[in-house]
Amino acid sequence: MSIKVVNPLTKEDLYSIEPAGDEELKPVFAKARSVQRKIHTLSIKERIREAVKISQYLMDNYRRVTERIVRETGKTKFEALSNELFEICDSIDYYRDHAEKILKTQKVHTPLVLMGKKSRIQYEPMGTVLIIAPWNYPLIQCFLPSILAFLAGNAVIYKPSEVTPLKGLYEEILDGSGFMKDAIQIVYGGKETGTALIEQKPDKIHFTGSTRAGKQIMAAASKYLIPVDLELGGKDPAIVFEDVDIEKTANGLIWAAFTNAGQSCTSIERCYVHESIFDEMTRVIVAITKKLRLANQSCEDCEADVGCMTADFQLKKVEAQLKEAVDKGAKVHCGGTVVEGTQIMPPTVVTNVSNEMELIAEETFGPVLPLIKFSGEEEVINMANDSAYGLSASVWTKDLKRADRVASALKVGNVAINNHMLTEANPALPFGGVKNSGIGRFKGDFGLLTFSHVKSIISGPNNKVIEPHWYPFTAPKFDTFPKLMRAFFTRPRKWVQFALVGLKLDPMGNKEKIKFED
Ligand code: NAD
Repeated sequence: MSIKVVNPLTKEDLYSIEPAGDEELKPVFAKARSVQRKIHTLSIKERIREAVKISQYLMDNYRRVTERIVRETGKTKFEALSNELFEICDSIDYYRDHAEKILKTQKVHTPLVLMGKKSRIQYEPMGTVLIIAPWNYPLIQCFLPSILAFLAGNAVIYKPSEVTPLKGLYEEILDGSGFMKDAIQIVYGGKETGTALIEQKPDKIHFTGSTRAGKQIMAAASKYLIPVDLELGGKDPAIVFEDVDIEKTANGLIWAAFTNAGQSCTSIERCYVHESIFDEMTRVIVAITKKLRLANQSCEDCEADVGCMTADFQLKKVEAQLKEAVDKGAKVHCGGTVVEGTQIMPPTVVTNVSNEMELIAEETFGPVLPLIKFSGEEEVINMANDSAYGLSASVWTKDLKRADRVASALKVGNVAINNHMLTEANPALPFGGVKNSGIGRFKGDFGLLTFSHVKSIISGPNNKVIEPHWYPFTAPKFDTFPKLMRAFFTRPRKWVQFALVGLKLDPMGNKEKIKFED
């Protein structure tokens, strides 16, 4: 059944996608497997040259690409440019300088008991990587993991969200930039297409989306033991201590709560503010929030701060959470009501909230900033950790020792100090969550290693020596081994004893070997 795609700002129907059926998926996988053999033969430098074509294309065509993103997501133009195009180019730029080093074969230590051997770790492509993405950052969710999987030597099959498929845009970028043909293929469709793609047995799945779908994907992948990365939902806490610069911190919190209309997995969804500055911080946050400019219905407007919500079903969820919270006593200071006839939820600041409300216990994924009072460090760490999610968090204070202490105590994958979601802006830092926020890490070294098979190789000469740990197992060997263990595993090592036992043990293999007799 075809899926309709709409412009969330204007509600205009844009086009429909026809979900790919099983019979269309087989040739896609066959093509991927064939092109992957070619990718494998490319040097890392050659793969980097391909990747750079994408960033070059995005820089040359940024207006058209950002307008296309805005039309399907309803985000502001600046967000499309800075959170999607800039970050793709920034990551490609990072791996341009680091990919060779990360993927280089590593010589590693070989213990003395394995004298004469050499050990190394080799990183090899996995084959075909399936990437399944959500609707909140459709361009970066495609190109970031796809390029990393490609740099590691894999072919990629990418399924965008059915909400923001950006139909034709990926192909335009890939073809227009001259990127290696078929190395990244796009398959359109919804959940059923995602399921059908997994049934084609890709060699790896990189999934970004909801915790609910992540669990289903892991279950489907387990049938074939396909490794998965799961980048899932979040409920990010920000912790604000009493010594902060109020105005700067308020600006940072507001940006981190409302950027992309709060539809970021790492946007602030719970903000814990020290009781001594709670009232003042609330007053400043509300005053600044009221000054944010909402998107109008034109893609030409570069001056808007907050866009509309991309998906009508998500907007309904946000409204339902707010209603439940208000019914249970929450106070809405600004926002809270959708602009009539639109999908724009104005930035909303709420107080008087508790863990009994879905607004605090569940992911909201909308422009709502709940402020919660705390009185002490240990208490706020417990409050922040009291969540099913563990994606990212932030700590705001002038006392950097305290910030480090709190950052270490938080059960999350990423922490920013005096900022929020900033770890994501550094391509050298791995990204991922704990608890219901996911499994695995990508970006940084992990960005390439997660798409690689890690192969260990140990190599020794093919001479006449029979190893003492081979057959036959004899009483003299059994008596000698403990002496070797004691000499070697004691500190300081007993080198003389170790050498003497070694001299005795080594020839045993040859002396006691089982002779071949016809
Ligand atoms: P979603 O889970 O509904 O869908 C994500 C993608 O998975 C879509 O392409 C969808 O078609 C596909 N899909 C859904 N169920 C599937 C199944 N059973 N088998 C195969 N494919 C399936 O998520 P969404 O509503 O598109 O995105 C919002 C969610 O994504 C939020 O929870 C948000 O926190 C999360 N997210 C996480 C990160 C991160 O890096 N941790 C980043 C962005 C968004």
